[in-house]
Amino acid sequence: MTDDKKLLQELLEKHNNGDLKPKERYEIPPQGMPAQDATERRDNIDEVATGYTETQARLEALRCLQCKNAPCVAGCPVKIKIKDFVSAIADGQYQQALEIIKENSLLPSVCGRVCPQEVQCQEKCTVAKRFKDVDKAVAIGRLERFVADWGEENDSTPKIAPPTGKKVAVIGSGPGGVVVATDCRRAGHDVTVFEAFHKPGGVLVYGIPEFRLPKAIVEREIKGLEKMGVKFECNFIVGRTRTVKQLLEEDGFDAAYIGVGAGLPRFMNIEGEQLVGVYSANEYLTRANLMKAYQFGEGADTPIAVSKKVAVLGGGNVAMDAARTAVRLGAEEVYLIYRRSEAEMPARVEEVHHAKEEGIIFKTLQNPKRILGDGDGYVKSLECLKYELGEPDDSGRRRPVPIEGSEFEIDVDTVIVAIGNGANPLIGQTTPGLEMNKWGNIVVDEDCKTSLDGVYAGGDIVLGAATVILAMGQGRIAAAAMNDYLKD
Ligand SMILES: Cc1cc2nc3c(=O)[nH]c(=O)nc-3n(C[C@H](O)[C@H](O)[C@H](O)COP(=O)(O)OP(=O)(O)OC[C@H]3O[C@@H](n4cnc5c(N)ncnc54)[C@H](O)[C@@H]3O)c2cc1C
Ligand code: SF4
Repeated sequence: MTDDKKLLQELLEKHNNGDLKPKERYEIPPQGMPAQDATERRDNIDEVATGYTETQARLEALRCLQCKNAPCVAGCPVKIKIKDFVSAIADGQYQQALEIIKENSLLPSVCGRVCPQEVQCQEKCTVAKRFKDVDKAVAIGRLERFVADWGEENDSTPKIAPPTGKKVAVIGSGPGGVVVATDCRRAGHDVTVFEAFHKPGGVLVYGIPEFRLPKAIVEREIKGLEKMGVKFECNFIVGRTRTVKQLLEEDGFDAAYIGVGAGLPRFMNIEGEQLVGVYSANEYLTRANLMKAYQFGEGADTPIAVSKKVAVLGGGNVAMDAARTAVRLGAEEVYLIYRRSEAEMPARVEEVHHAKEEGIIFKTLQNPKRILGDGDGYVKSLECLKYELGEPDDSGRRRPVPIEGSEFEIDVDTVIVAIGNGANPLIGQTTPGLEMNKWGNIVVDEDCKTSLDGVYAGGDIVLGAATVILAMGQGRIAAAAMNDYLKD
């Protein structure tokens, strides 16, 4: 028997007798996430984190103190009963654990992988507070993933209420749309999801790379919806193929949910951004993920730059995904250029850690001034400026201030701009009476209802570029309100 298994057996004996003291729980070593070797994974697109074993999951679950007030729950946007599902894992009751999670979250295998737990539930965990180190919190996300993966084979199709005769249109098939489709279908409505791309899943499919979120997981969720009777109309752009008004007034839909996300890339607006070799991160990732450009010539129709030296501009999750994708597509050197310091980077700590392990060169407190061409219209280099940090700005982060005269040049053949995304404007432009704010986001009330009757919205098109769990949370609220509205 391995040392880990022996330790687990000893701890379980005490735990089952009610004798495992908080002090002993603190002494259980935090279970690291097994991962593919950093050198090997540079050459493949397989998932980096390989998931807990059963022994690791139960050891990690035993670290939970079962706090009376469970402060972790306050950090969870959808209020999962964390201590209950963690306790069920410690007891080896995985089905029960999964059912507890699914009361509040419909996509645990996705959230367990991509939620920023370190700034949500885990940040509030008593164990993290005790060690003054969020890395030592109970690994709630990893446990969620463990139990969701365990349940993969055992998931049953949810019960569906008798047909109501009402039709629901879900516009956009991201995580918010998936949740609305599930909850409205459960209530017995006839649900159709309209998706602009040829494949459903939203950012989970076109943005977040395979090595962080295997596409088979998203496909399984979509298949589950199809089994429930949800219809998918892909290659269907609402606002072009049909408008929201036409769906409601001519096509017989009784209610609609708009979950079209924030897919409009922002650019730097600097000289040289029109050169060949400059991509938005959205385009780069869509080519790589959705269109499988890494298989170009071997079954995929979409090409992508064959790059040697790549500069990625930005410091968020999207920038990390783009940089790590460039490495896997064969780039020899990938620079991540960010105008603040690493402490201000919005990307998840785990992504930063993995990116560094994979050899991405972080160039912080630097920012491009212009992109230089080779005379034939192709990117040749980047001219950058050095920065220092000034006073905090509106976001609370210290403002980056350029250092005059600090220009320098980096040779690159590809530039990927990953400085954020704005709201997709099409629906707003083609739906009269739909109230939008000055950033182009749809305005909703606390039920996610828009200014139009029967029309609801949520996720990034309402919140601005946010997170999967927040989109799912709004989907839940909107679906409950839609089901209520459709009762009348
Ligand atoms: C590269 C990348 C990495 C990310 N990493 C993380 C992460 O690690 N953790 C995390 O929590 N969040 C992450 N996010 C953010 C997260 O993915 C989003 O907040 C979330 O997906 C938003 O969900 P949504 O339901 O609003 O729809 P989206 O996922 O944005 O999907 C919207 C869908 O609507 C479709 N659509 C758009 N316009 C139309 C139209 N007119 N008609 C029909 N369909 C339309 C789009 O094609 C798309 O499929 C990441 C985002 C990106 C881009
Ligand atoms: S705060 Fe941490 S230790 Fe306490 S119940 Fe939640 S996960 Fe367990």
